[in-house]
Amino acid sequence: MRAIAVACLFFAAADAAAVDTVLHNGKIWTGDPAQPSASAIAIEGGRIVATGSDEAILALATKDSRRIDLKGHRVVPGINDAHTHITLGLPSLDIELPRDAGSTQVREAIAALPTTGDGWITADIGMDVLADPAMRRAQLDALQPTRPLLLTGWTGHGMLVNSAAQRALGLSLDDVPAGGWLGRDASGAFDGRVYEYAQWSPRTGLPARPEKLRSVIALDSDALLRLGVTSIQNMAIGTPLPDFITAWLETGTPLRLRAIRTPLAREPGQPPDHLELPARDPARPSITVSGTKWILDGTPMEGGAAMRAAYADGSHGRLNFDPAGIEALLREIAGRGDQPLLHVSGDATLAAVLDALQATASAETWRALRPRIEHGEGLAPDLVARAKEYGVVLVQNPSHFMLPPAEAAYLDAHRLQPLADVLTAGIPLALGSDGPPSPWLNMMFAIAPASRPDQALSREQVLRAYTAGSAFAESSEQEKGRLAPGQLADLAVLSQDVLDEAVPGQALPGTRSLLTMGAGEIGWRDPGF
Ligand SMILES: [Zn+2]
Repeated sequence: MRAIAVACLFFAAADAAAVDTVLHNGKIWTGDPAQPSASAIAIEGGRIVATGSDEAILALATKDSRRIDLKGHRVVPGINDAHTHITLGLPSLDIELPRDAGSTQVREAIAALPTTGDGWITADIGMDVLADPAMRRAQLDALQPTRPLLLTGWTGHGMLVNSAAQRALGLSLDDVPAGGWLGRDASGAFDGRVYEYAQWSPRTGLPARPEKLRSVIALDSDALLRLGVTSIQNMAIGTPLPDFITAWLETGTPLRLRAIRTPLAREPGQPPDHLELPARDPARPSITVSGTKWILDGTPMEGGAAMRAAYADGSHGRLNFDPAGIEALLREIAGRGDQPLLHVSGDATLAAVLDALQATASAETWRALRPRIEHGEGLAPDLVARAKEYGVVLVQNPSHFMLPPAEAAYLDAHRLQPLADVLTAGIPLALGSDGPPSPWLNMMFAIAPASRPDQALSREQVLRAYTAGSAFAESSEQEKGRLAPGQLADLAVLSQDVLDEAVPGQALPGTRSLLTMGAGEIGWRDPGF
């Protein structure tokens, strides 16, 4: 039926020869197996009518059609970043520290700030600082006895607080939210470490700052459009969905948004807030609300990903929820016919998820819902067949392949963190940044993944995963991901040909979009183009 509908659209538009926009003289990678490359595209009403040669496509234009000369540039479908975190997690970032700043540098920066007043002091810190036994509540109190101090580990899976922040956030060993835990010292007292879901619900008590949220969205979405990104799938953990959507609309950004629910665990299995928000709303056509994200473990960076084989220190990481908890949250999501998006970093976590999928619904039911595994370090070779059976979609983040040598060696030794093997196995692969937002920097990482050199993708495979793959991962493949008749006219005209091996891998991060279109409308145009 779909093919017929598309064909009708094509012929209706072609018969009338009423295309409103024609792009010509380009090198177009369509992602469409029926017409893999083209030099011109015809657009009508925000959708692609046809792709083909300049001659064929220009013949569809009238005197009123807008014509854009692509000047020989590479054109690709708009990039769809399947995993972003545009949000406002912290009250402010008062100390800017390099990620590799050690405990001494962090202490000096904290001590340099006034100790009086009631303002929060916040900073991002490296995982070594979070792990340092000399950076605990008592030591932080000595530096800042009265102002609330909150130091967030950059992976987002743990933080440190002083006593003033503990009081302000209401953190107590007697009342720890499900899915999280607090660190204890030798005497059993709270030592200032706060992990996983124990961080998130207390943070919602921090004052809302709509202006700051708007400026973060405006800056980030502008940067993404300039890189050729036309869609993001965002998890604004800690920001209520209605607030996020309001701020998004107020910026007027043309970027498409999939807003993903990120419940803060009280108990897994409780319905998330704001279920009254419809998936689609004519008042906000570029926003879809769908999918429910849960974080099931940490990362290999802080030894938090739950692994079957021990880390170097003998630990195995840990699961945020027990098997009954994972089943409960999966049942709740499936009950709403929604897609689960699960942060799963360890192979023990993935094994637990596969068991929970099997326990909660049939493989056929899950295949229809396309359960997403975010990050996918844990997709060990022996788990691939079951993941495929349950319709798992894997979302990888190329920058995560740039781990320090010790973590990389662990993953390589245990054949974890697959990339090329995912495609070979026939498991749908999408790409998202979850870090530096540039798809072209991430392309450089994915064609030479340092932690798994044997898992390199080709440039075309990267592009396909970042477009059609990401569209499949949000069930929007009928509309997005290819430059083909019937699809939305979301595309980017690039400053250099990322598919040309003459452009060295190291030069890929320099790629910019000269023209970014969403539904045929110009969202960004380089003044020089
Ligand atoms: Zn993430």
